[in-house]
Amino acid sequence: GAEATDVGTVIIGSGPGGYVAAIRAAELGQDVTLIERDDIGGVCLNIGCIPSKALINVGHHYRDSQEENPFGLSMTGKLDWDKAQDWKQHKVVDQLTGGVAMLLKKHHVKIIKGEATFNDNETLNVVQEDGHQLLRFENAIVAAGSRPVEIPSLKFGGRIVDSTGVLSLPEVPEHLIVVGGGVIGSELGGAYSNLGSKVTIVEGLDHTLNGFDKEMTKPVLNDFKKHGGEIVTSAMAKGATQTDKDVTLTYEVDGKEQTVTGDYLLVSVGRRANSDTLGLNNTDVKVGDHGLIEVDNQMKTSVSHIYALGDIVAGPALAHKAMFEGKVAAAAISGASNAHDLHYSLPAVAYTQYELATTGETPESVKAKDLNAKISKFPFAGNGRALAMDAGVGFIRLITDKDSNAMLGAQIVGPSASDLISELSLAIENGLTSEDISLTIHPHPTLGEAIMDAAEVADGLGIHV
Ligand code: FAD
Repeated sequence: GAEATDVGTVIIGSGPGGYVAAIRAAELGQDVTLIERDDIGGVCLNIGCIPSKALINVGHHYRDSQEENPFGLSMTGKLDWDKAQDWKQHKVVDQLTGGVAMLLKKHHVKIIKGEATFNDNETLNVVQEDGHQLLRFENAIVAAGSRPVEIPSLKFGGRIVDSTGVLSLPEVPEHLIVVGGGVIGSELGGAYSNLGSKVTIVEGLDHTLNGFDKEMTKPVLNDFKKHGGEIVTSAMAKGATQTDKDVTLTYEVDGKEQTVTGDYLLVSVGRRANSDTLGLNNTDVKVGDHGLIEVDNQMKTSVSHIYALGDIVAGPALAHKAMFEGKVAAAAISGASNAHDLHYSLPAVAYTQYELATTGETPESVKAKDLNAKISKFPFAGNGRALAMDAGVGFIRLITDKDSNAMLGAQIVGPSASDLISELSLAIENGLTSEDISLTIHPHPTLGEAIMDAAEVADGLGIHV
């Protein structure tokens, strides 16, 4: 057989987990080789977080240009879809992935373009365009991510698209049908609704946006419906037929068959770990339920020099989780004894019309754990900056310990919830109390003041409520 090349730390996959692990391992003195079969940046940068947020942004601008606003500004926006697509790809995605490639180069990370599979616990086979090579590694990090789940009766192709296809449709659909109203389906359904599509979301559960409570999702769902969106819940998708101009979905509600016809169908019913394509059966790496690789709190698998992280291990499939785990694994390989993955206040965000963000405990979780918790709220309607932005919808919710006032959790619905939530994660991670927040001067007028106001409510001393 071919001679194997000796390498130090090898990383499979250049998504947010893999590229962050590569840079950090290099910073900590490791000799790093990164293997990627596709584009640098993985799902998140190329076909996930970033291009979806770019389209969502176009949707907000387009909707603003179409709707009457309360300040008497007339706009009649016309969208050049090709230009929007071009901007998304070249000024957003390519700019960012190019930046990551530069950072990898700066840190002397060797990049191999190819598909890696394990031969055994020590060697990888990498299939490249012009042949293949064997690598014998000291340490490996598996950051090979996940892919959309395909339902056999709704095979991707033609007018039936996955989360990748929906980001690059040839036109703005007249009527987009979405099977699966989770975060990805709701975000992209919302974006196309704002872009002028009629959108029908068909969901199996009795609610969409699972993971966020009803009080949080209510303003989002009300807005979506007011804007012409349709949501069908407790619905079982059965199959779809397509012609060259449309696609018809058949689904069942309460034992009754229904159909809906649109011009595109997005199937977004979850993601599956890519652990089945890595030759892991040639190793002693344990793969558990749902194809998730089992790891300890240093991201170490059942083979002590093979690590795994990101979407291919347990936990929410989120880019910031993958990145954090990448730093943990890189530190662990480099001998940092305190490297561990706590996941104490892992925030999650939905970029819907009104953003939803949560960190730490929720009203349901404190109930389930029987914690002695206090829930305090402050509405954006009482925040000057929000009103000046015509964005006085939503609220901040703080969950504190009734005795110590320590921050346990927080939820935000409303403007910039995605950015505001970090202050509350910081508070939770550092054991801060509601007084620590309320006694910190927040600049006026800002959306962040609503956090200070909510903390004052928690102190029993609300000024603006
Ligand atoms: P990935 O990003 O999946 O990267 C894995 C890489 O490994 C890929 O590039 C793949 O080509 C490569 N690979 C796999 N197998 C091999 C092999 N055998 N050899 C070589 N290379 C291989 N998360 C958020 O936190 N915020 C968001 O707003 C958000 N929005 C999203 C929107 C959409 C539409 C989608 C689909 C996802 C979104 N996510 C979001 C989820 C986020 O993209 C993932 O959690 C994240 O990309 C996982 O990172 P990762 O490093 O584990 O793997």
